Amino acid sequence: MAADQTDRDPSQPASGFATRAIRAASRLPRVTQAASAVPIYQSVTFSAEDSAELGAILNGREPGYAYSRLGHPTGAAMAAAIAELEGAEAGLAFDSGMGAIHGTLTALLSAGDHVVATRAVYGSTRTLLDRVLARFGVATTFIDATAVAAFEAAVTPRTRVLYLETISNPTLVVADLAELASRARAHGLTVVVDNTFASPYLCRPLELGADLVIESCTKWLGGHSDVLAGAVSGSRQLVDRIAAGQVDMGGTVAPFSAFLVLRGLTTLAVRMDRHSASALALASFLSASAEPRAVYYPALPSHPQAAVSRRQLRAGGGMLAVEFGAREAATAFIDALRLPQRTASLGSVFTMAVHPPSTTHRQLDAAELREAGIAEGLVRISVGLEDAADLQADLANGLAAAARVGVPA
Ligand code: PLP
Repeated sequence: MAADQTDRDPSQPASGFATRAIRAASRLPRVTQAASAVPIYQSVTFSAEDSAELGAILNGREPGYAYSRLGHPTGAAMAAAIAELEGAEAGLAFDSGMGAIHGTLTALLSAGDHVVATRAVYGSTRTLLDRVLARFGVATTFIDATAVAAFEAAVTPRTRVLYLETISNPTLVVADLAELASRARAHGLTVVVDNTFASPYLCRPLELGADLVIESCTKWLGGHSDVLAGAVSGSRQLVDRIAAGQVDMGGTVAPFSAFLVLRGLTTLAVRMDRHSASALALASFLSASAEPRAVYYPALPSHPQAAVSRRQLRAGGGMLAVEFGAREAATAFIDALRLPQRTASLGSVFTMAVHPPSTTHRQLDAAELREAGIAEGLVRISVGLEDAADLQADLANGLAAAARVGVPA
């Protein structure tokens, strides 16, 4: 690169090597063309023109960046892109999905408050609510979110938040977001929806009446199992409240992570179409087999909330679950698979198969697992972008292994 393309400042006084090295290495390139990708602003600090400007930025009186925990351009670009796709006024990026969930709930709740949450939530969300936040005086009632009467019965005068998942982890329950959101609003609650399993391509909870939508961008949005990140989107007023908490609690997304999420967003639609098409084909194949007791996939006509799924989701998504009736059959199925990775995540180019009771929901004891509707014989599959025919042949191996183990009478 030619030296004259940098911002040299000949007015600077002559100085020693160390001073010149620091100044030279932090001189920004002058760029007049728009970059095609959002650059990674790998800088913790941003300098102001003078002390008054720095104070004004830090106090939020002027827009700008000062210290990356409070915000940086790559994270802001990620948050704005996700907010736009969710149909939201504003967004905030976090270092993980749990960071976004924790940051959102602590901004909305105080000691003495009560939360109504779907009983079929991600394991760490459940323990955040009923173990961590419980220590700070926040109580939670977990309900079957498909029974509207259960919601009405759980609301108390102290209830502040209704917490739902669009497609729940791991049993793929599809809550009727429009119905629940309108009832929650009648009680003055803030409706928070974790949309991780669906992504904004398949469902936009804010359009159905939610106040805040959360994504673990670690999953479909990043899409390649190489980034941990999260986001929350909603009204400017609510997002500003959450951002004020992030200043003191941390959890800001790393610039490189934000860059990877932005890159993932560019291919989200094509990936979700392919994940959904393959998952539907595999769910249909598994349903036709004698082995599993049940196959859960939102786009199957046999899904308990098939009608809600059709209304709320553009397609069924990449997640499906299979119930074998016994833990041994479930693990024999998983261990016989050759293509999927046996790993406790989801939303990637490669297929993953996992036994939720011993992995993603391991924090729950037997009673909590039962209450959350998670059977010992459950297997959760995140369908990747491999050829569906190869995956189907491999699942057939798994079914044969499960059949050999059988289900104890
Ligand atoms: N929400 C759901 C539905 C999840 O499945 C997960 C993780 O698996 C999370 C939130 C947490 O996301 P992260 O691992 O990015 O913290």
